[in-house]
Amino acid sequence: MNDVSQDLNLWFIFAAISIFSLFCTGLYFILRYYTSKDALDYTNKENLDSKDLAKETVFKSDANKVSLKDALSKSRRNFWEHITFAKSSAPQAYLEQIEEALYLGDVGPQTVTYLVDRAEKYFNVEKLTEDSLKHFLKDEMESILGKTEMSQSVYSQLKQGFENIEGPVVLMVVGVNGVGKTTTIGKLAQNLAEEGKKVLIAAGDTFRAAAGEQLKVWTDRAKAEIFFPEGVKDPSAVAFDALKKAESGGFDVCLIDTAGRLHTQDNLMAELEKVKRVLSKINAQAPHHTWIVLDANSGQNALFQAQNFHKVLNLSGVILTKLDGTAKGGMALAVANELKVPIRFIGVGEKAQDLRPFNSLEFVDSLI
Ligand code: GDP
Repeated sequence: MNDVSQDLNLWFIFAAISIFSLFCTGLYFILRYYTSKDALDYTNKENLDSKDLAKETVFKSDANKVSLKDALSKSRRNFWEHITFAKSSAPQAYLEQIEEALYLGDVGPQTVTYLVDRAEKYFNVEKLTEDSLKHFLKDEMESILGKTEMSQSVYSQLKQGFENIEGPVVLMVVGVNGVGKTTTIGKLAQNLAEEGKKVLIAAGDTFRAAAGEQLKVWTDRAKAEIFFPEGVKDPSAVAFDALKKAESGGFDVCLIDTAGRLHTQDNLMAELEKVKRVLSKINAQAPHHTWIVLDANSGQNALFQAQNFHKVLNLSGVILTKLDGTAKGGMALAVANELKVPIRFIGVGEKAQDLRPFNSLEFVDSLI
C-alpha cells in the first residue's frame, strides 16, 4: 500500500512538473510573439525614408499649426494698447490715438493718412467703442488689401494666367539677404512636391556660399531636385542651364533662387535683370513670375526694398515672412496700398506648413 501511494506521489510530482513546463513554454512563445512584433515595428520605423519621416514630423506638428491670430497677436496688442476709450476724450484726441497706433503698427505714412482721413469723414468718432472702431478699420483695411483670397495651392497660383503653357512654369525669387528667401524657396518646393509636382530648384545665389547647401537640405526633405553645378559662379549661367534641364527633364516647376547681396545695390539689380533676360532667351515668357520675399520685421524698410526691386524687375508677387512674433504686421497694408503687387503667401514660422496663402479677410480679422 505504501509502495502504491509512493508511486502516486511520484506520478503527481511528474504531472505537476510537466504542466508547469508546458505553461512556461506557452508563456515563452506568447512573450516572444509580442516582443518580436514590437521589434518589427521598430525596424519598419528605422526603414522609413526621410520623406516619410518628414511627413510624420509635419503630421505631428500639424496639430501645433500656428494660427494666424496667434501669429499676429503682437501686432494686434501693439495696436490696441495705444488706444484708450476714455469717455472724456475729444474726437481729435481719439483720431490722434488711432493715427499713432497705426504708425506704430508700421502701416506707413501714406496709408495712415488715408485711413485717418477716412475716419474723420465717415466714422463717428464721438461714439467710439472698441467694436465700432474694429468694424470701421476692418472694412477699410479689407478694401485696401482687395478682399483677396489666394488659392491654397502654390501650383495653381503659379499657373494662373499661364494655364495653357507647355513645359515648366518658372518662378524667380528675389529678396535681400536674411529675409528668409532660402527658407521660403524650400517651403514652396515642399508644398509643390506634396501636390505631386516635379520641382527643380536652381541654386542661383552663387555669391553666398551656404545658400546652395541650405537649399539642398530642403530639396532632400521635399524630394525636389536641385541644380547646383560645382564651381559655376555666374548666376545667369546657373539659371540658363537649370531651365534647359527643367524643360528637357519634364519638370512642372523651375524655382530660381537669386543673390540677395552684391557689392552695390546697382550691381545686384543689374545681375538680377541679366538672369531675367537670359531666362527669356530660352522661353520668351520666362520667368512667368518674379516674387519678392520681404521680412515683416523690417516694416517700412521692406516697402522701400520692394519698390526698388519692382522698378527693375516688374514683380508679380510678394511673400511676407516672419509675421509670427512681429509687431509690424500692419506693413502688409503699406505693401498693398503703395506697391500694388499682390501678397501671395505669408510666413508664420520656420516649417513648410508655416507658409500660408494670403487671405485678406482672415489677415485683417487677426490683425485688428
Ligand atoms: P535668406 O538669407 O533670405 O536666404 O534667409 P534664410 O532663409 O536663411 O532665413 C533666415 C532666418 O529666418 C532663418 O533662421 C529662417 O529659419 C528664418 N525664417 C524664415 N522664414 C521665417 C518665418 O516665416 N518665421 C520665422 N520665425 N522665421 C523664419
